[in-house]
Amino acid sequence: MSARQSATDDRSMRRCTLDAYCQPLEDRLEPDANARRKGFVVMVLMNMTTGDTRKVGVAYKTSAKDPGLMLNVCPFCGAEIDAGFKNQPVSGDTA
Ligand SMILES: [Zn+2]
Repeated sequence: MSARQSATDDRSMRRCTLDAYCQPLEDRLEPDANARRKGFVVMVLMNMTTGDTRKVGVAYKTSAKDPGLMLNVCPFCGAEIDAGFKNQPVSGDTA
């Protein structure tokens, strides 16, 4: 095991959850949710009826104009971070 690998292991002890992201990802997130900037941005949706906000996940933007691509898994710890996206109600689902 390389030194780099063991350093990564040390920092990934806390993996991403719905409430908090792992340190390597946290360090690279833009400070503002829905930020119009290049990089990793936390995407938050607001329910216009109730005013509640919900974190849906993290998007990677290649520029300020890029709407962003949602990440399915964290590129650093490998945890699935799209749960907030998946939990969106699916209209027309009668099952
Ligand atoms: Zn992570």
